[in-house]
Amino acid sequence: MTTRDRTSYHPDEYTRWHDPDPTPRINRVTQETARILTHLDPTGPRSGTDDTPERVAKMWVNELTIGYHENVPALFKTFKSDSKDLVIIKDIPLVSTCEHHLVPFIGHAHVGYLPEGAVVGLSKIKRVVDAYARRLQIQERLTSEIADAMDENLSPRGVMVVLEAEHLCMTIRGVQAPGTRTITSAVRGAFNENKEGEKEEFLRLLRR
Ligand SMILES: [Zn+2]
Repeated sequence: MTTRDRTSYHPDEYTRWHDPDPTPRINRVTQETARILTHLDPTGPRSGTDDTPERVAKMWVNELTIGYHENVPALFKTFKSDSKDLVIIKDIPLVSTCEHHLVPFIGHAHVGYLPEGAVVGLSKIKRVVDAYARRLQIQERLTSEIADAMDENLSPRGVMVVLEAEHLCMTIRGVQAPGTRTITSAVRGAFNENKEGEKEEFLRLLRR
């Protein structure tokens, strides 16, 4: 067995991934978490950690990876609108998980768009952010997935997404640089062409 074999996923074991009932996955992740703990914690089964595997499994299945089960196009219940003016939803709380280290990155998302005949409910934009954030991610891909979802499902004149986040994999391990923020942006349509300074207007309003 090569190193790669040992570290790869085992497709035969995740065939129930699409089962809408999360119980089989919670049970499996509970078992696997208990096995991981036997290799990490020499103080062994004790009252404090008795329920930890199940608690961890529910957190991963029901919260940190729930975004894979969200139907993103269905979130875009749009309303007809003549407005062409910039809409910005700022400081949306962001919690995601780094796919390289399985630890969180936490920060804020700012989403702006220029409507073209339709607008979307403001609360739905937070749910779009969550739908992609509650997966195993890198910040760069998360940023462009949010922008692409807005672009494809709302067909605005332009979309701009800025994410700023602190990565716990940089804070608790490796370079140990608490407070370091990573900022990413994705621009589409009119923000990209920037003929009337749309991009600067978005950034100016973010700084307020
Ligand atoms: Zn990481």
